[in-house]
Amino acid sequence: MFNVKPVEKIPVPDRVKKALKEILGEHKVLDDEMDRMLYSYDATRIQTPPDVVIIPEKPEEIQEVMKICYEEEIPITPRGAGSGYTGGALPVKGGVLVSFEKMDNILEIDEDNATARVQPGVITYRLQQAVEKLGLFYPPDPASYKFCTLGGNVAENAGGPRCVKYGVTRDFVLTLDTVIHTGEIIHTGRPTLKDVAGYDLTRLLVGSEGTLGIFTEITLKLIPKPKAKKTVKAIFMDIAAVGKTVKDIFKAGISPSALEFMDNLAINAVEDFGHFGLPRDAEVLLLIEVDGHPKALDDEIIEIARICEMNGAKVEVAKTDADAEKLWEARRALSPAVAKLARTKINEDIVFQRSYLPEALPKLREIGKKYNLKMVNFGHIGDGNIHANFMINGLDPDEVARAEKAVEEVFELALKYGGSITGEHGVGITKAEFMKKQFGSAEMDIMRKIKRVFDPKDLINPGKMDID
Ligand SMILES: Cc1cc2nc3c(=O)[nH]c(=O)nc-3n(C[C@H](O)[C@H](O)[C@H](O)COP(=O)(O)OP(=O)(O)OC[C@H]3O[C@@H](n4cnc5c(N)ncnc54)[C@H](O)[C@@H]3O)c2cc1C
Repeated sequence: MFNVKPVEKIPVPDRVKKALKEILGEHKVLDDEMDRMLYSYDATRIQTPPDVVIIPEKPEEIQEVMKICYEEEIPITPRGAGSGYTGGALPVKGGVLVSFEKMDNILEIDEDNATARVQPGVITYRLQQAVEKLGLFYPPDPASYKFCTLGGNVAENAGGPRCVKYGVTRDFVLTLDTVIHTGEIIHTGRPTLKDVAGYDLTRLLVGSEGTLGIFTEITLKLIPKPKAKKTVKAIFMDIAAVGKTVKDIFKAGISPSALEFMDNLAINAVEDFGHFGLPRDAEVLLLIEVDGHPKALDDEIIEIARICEMNGAKVEVAKTDADAEKLWEARRALSPAVAKLARTKINEDIVFQRSYLPEALPKLREIGKKYNLKMVNFGHIGDGNIHANFMINGLDPDEVARAEKAVEEVFELALKYGGSITGEHGVGITKAEFMKKQFGSAEMDIMRKIKRVFDPKDLINPGKMDID
């Protein structure tokens, strides 16, 4: 297995299973072999079965289960839809897995204050559709939005194409209810646009990957739905020109609502997958969207087209909403399309500071060539967030060793150019060993101390982020 340390499992004794069934009822506690296997993996395809899966319907049930787990020293791991790319929802030490599939209610959409109160199991797309009917907008849009949950988005601080303009999940979380190790629920944040009282525990909990507590309720900020949008496709034959184009667009005072990038292998993977009509011979494709008032959009599109052409691109503006949607469908199909290229996809999501993109992008591509690996790059280039994928068979030890070295170089490149080892997928288990590359011992020490305050016995989603 790639980059994952084996850990000791802690079994759940029968008396604890009995107590769980008393709290939740028999049908909401699953412990047969088949159920345990069904909840044992996420999008990493790594499998670590829990001993017991619980399917709570109320926060109080999670509170009671947390108290038992803490008394009996049993690991407890929250899980949304299991679409994570870094193993965050994997119960690596066994124990109890908390599935949010039945805590999936939109509790309130407050139009006057432009907020939504939700349970963590709500699918992101469902909330987006519900608020858009009211003229409101929830921008964070991970490509998995049709099946991932808001609880998982908050825990991973998920991003997506629109985050380049609107910000990531963290920028939309106003309050959190979180079950902590004592079984109490802490209420952090306020449902207001301003609040500077005390330490900002909400921002700390967002992105904590389920390692500090278990969310039971979330209040999200909404904004007015943009009135219109337009999409441009720009085809480049020179990768170095792409980074400069991105810089030039922002320097021209334009804030695109999405600025996405696909390299040649990505374009071809997606064409094989769905025949979207993308140019197979392009070196790089940029998809650029602007949104806002219809009168402003035409000017912005003309300016973007001019900048792309000045940098050597061939540009096409999507004529209808249906044409634009087809391009975005192609973008969203990228992850599954690329996954078909090889048995194993090593998927890293590094970030560069935008100013370094012209230098960094060609160097990133060189890493694949240097290690003789099939490398596919795509991602949210507007915010410098690139998905660098090594497609390997995974059975040849020499190939695996080359891929391991290549991944290290990818992280080094991101850090050299002012960036991060992850922009949105989180650390989980697959990137845990690289935390020390980004953080010094003082920062790691503070993170470990924070973990101990929230989880003194290291039972809440243990084995993640190298902070145990
Ligand atoms: C095809 C595909 C495309 C993707 N595209 C993107 C993308 O564009 N942007 C992006 O950011 N990610 C993307 N992802 C990754 C993934 O979808 C996100 O990380 C998402 O936020 C995970 O949500 P989930 O509900 O599946 O959570 P899970 O994978 O089940 O869990 C993720 C983490 O959240 C924790 N968690 C879940 N629920 C709770 C809770 N109630 N309380 C506390 N912790 C909790 C888990 O313990 C775990 O650490 C993609 C994945 C796939 C498969």
